[in-house]
Amino acid sequence: MIIAIGDGVADLIDFNNKIHINAVSNIFISYREGKHYVIFSRKLLNFLNENSDKFNSMVFASIKRSASDSLIANKCFSVCNTYISIVLDGEIEKVKHHSNGKNVVKVPLSYFDDSQAIQKSIFITENSYDAEFYKYTSYLFSEVNDVPVNICFQNVPGGGDTTGDVFESSQRNEKNPIFCMVDNDKLAPAVSIGKTATKVMQSCNDRKLSGCKVIDAHSIESLIPNAIYKMIFQDDVNKQKALNQYSLIEDNWPDLKRYIKVREGVPHPKRIGKPAVKSFWEEKRETIFSVQKDMWCFCQEGKDLCECQTVYGLGDSLMKKVVAKMNSMSEGERRGAVESCATIKGIWMDIGAELYAWCCAPSRINLN
Ligand SMILES: [Zn+2]
Repeated sequence: MIIAIGDGVADLIDFNNKIHINAVSNIFISYREGKHYVIFSRKLLNFLNENSDKFNSMVFASIKRSASDSLIANKCFSVCNTYISIVLDGEIEKVKHHSNGKNVVKVPLSYFDDSQAIQKSIFITENSYDAEFYKYTSYLFSEVNDVPVNICFQNVPGGGDTTGDVFESSQRNEKNPIFCMVDNDKLAPAVSIGKTATKVMQSCNDRKLSGCKVIDAHSIESLIPNAIYKMIFQDDVNKQKALNQYSLIEDNWPDLKRYIKVREGVPHPKRIGKPAVKSFWEEKRETIFSVQKDMWCFCQEGKDLCECQTVYGLGDSLMKKVVAKMNSMSEGERRGAVESCATIKGIWMDIGAELYAWCCAPSRINLN
């Protein structure tokens, strides 16, 4: 994450105050250890130089190194929508910057007196494969924006529907930056987000160094370009019907995929209980049946009697397969797959921006 120390604080740092010195030291050590970027002004650098005897040699070497790397750190800052701004005292406070529109987490300097606070960002996801996948969205974001791709986090799997509780307890017990990302679980536009997403949003504490994002899709599997599913299941004859359906959906109604639980597919509307979901899929079923009916109906009973599944599912453990496939693909292949669908690319960029802001990090520096 970006930790910014502005001129206002630089003027107020007391170089005879051990807490201030220790906090400043910890912040620069996190830079050396490849955990967080530090951006600061020439003015602060001058103060630090004048007080170099207050810091141990390793800390001072980290200060000099981050000063010489400031162009890169500032470039990352320019694309981050959220950052930490050090203030002298008070409580943690989340605000919008009045001119650049970024989300600012104001954190008092003394917070970093505890070295726990400058450890890697914690990234809470529903399970560990999700975190592996989300990494690729931040890679896309950084490639498109031409900033270093490096991110650094400690993943904490929330265990599906307990993710909100894990997020809440992490905010209570941990001091490092915490970012949580969950599915919206929506099967139609007119329904509200799921219980897990609601819990996560409600428990995001304004007084903690934390943030959350509910993805704009039912579940993470909706964000996988069909090009990747095709590679995974190219030899599986049982999946070809489903793959053809997803290709048609991606080409004709890319937004629709956001409301599909890809593991299970979408049942016949007769078997959908919730009225808003039922009516949404009744209407969509009409539309998609008007395009290549053979691909959707296999019973030959005619539209009124047909009870075929509306969209077929791709089965369980999908993200494990997706992550294994993506790990084996080149950067160019991954880029090509996601750029085959503008809607999916847009969501990747949106998610990638959030993850990048919370977890962007310099490479670890070896000081000789
Ligand atoms: Zn049928």
